[in-house]
Amino acid sequence: MRQTPRTKPFAKRSFGQNFLTDAACIEKIIGALDPASDDTIVEIGPGRGALTAALVAAGSSVVAVELDADLIPLLRRKFEGHANFRLFEEDALHTDFRLMIEAGSETTGKPAKLVANLPYNVSTAILQRLIGYRDCFSEMVLMLQKEVVERITAAPGTSERGYLTVLTEAYFDTEMLFEVPPGAFIPVPKVTSAVVRLVPKPGIELPDAEQFSSVISLGFRQKRKTILNNLKNEKIFGAESVVSVIESCGIDPRLRPEDLTLEQWGRLSARSLF
Ligand code: SAM
Repeated sequence: MRQTPRTKPFAKRSFGQNFLTDAACIEKIIGALDPASDDTIVEIGPGRGALTAALVAAGSSVVAVELDADLIPLLRRKFEGHANFRLFEEDALHTDFRLMIEAGSETTGKPAKLVANLPYNVSTAILQRLIGYRDCFSEMVLMLQKEVVERITAAPGTSERGYLTVLTEAYFDTEMLFEVPPGAFIPVPKVTSAVVRLVPKPGIELPDAEQFSSVISLGFRQKRKTILNNLKNEKIFGAESVVSVIESCGIDPRLRPEDLTLEQWGRLSARSLF
């Protein structure tokens, strides 16, 4: 039997490929980013170019990073002749975004924006990597699983609040923008997605990024335990009693980690000896 010729690469689960096909949704994401002709916009995972096309049409300097080698020729063909489009065949988990922006941008001085319909399998790893590059960007508009957006934006005292929430909150003002139903993609994913805006902020006085992330990671080790129980066997405060350190940070030791505010985590991490 004759096979239908493969005119375009098929979606690969291993690359987290769910391509956006819903025009209204694409328009909403682009509207949230509001691309201008003097903007440099980094796009992670352009895929078949659903968002890229609107960014290129807006005249922004588009710097796209795509890992799937099979999509590269398609993207080059689609945007050939557009001097404001640059494509890097790279892994966003290893990319030096600073160098990429310098190499790919026409404009100078203005911080770049970032947009991505992130591959779900590596979305939180990419998000954590982007924290290290936050000074390169004025804002990031990201599509993630709705559940991940709920975690990122969870207020103190809510069960969704965890390590990723506090880490993101330390470095960004976060705003959940809208939900995107599974039917907006091909192939159709099992879960609902959501778009979040992250705007880098100067941040609270963090003693040290690694120290801060280690303390919140230990503090959330068992979410249902109290902050005291999670930290009491860790030697992170030297000879000082863990209860008295927690209390001196203005924290009730019986609280669960999800109840602590960003400022309280900041005070605790400042006292640790990591
Ligand atoms: N932006 C397109 C859209 O909205 O239709 C595609 C989004 S799809 C969910 C994720 C894209 O990220 C795919 O094109 C995939 O190949 C690419 N990708 C997956 N892992 C990547 C990585 N580590 N670095 C860069 N791109 C990656």
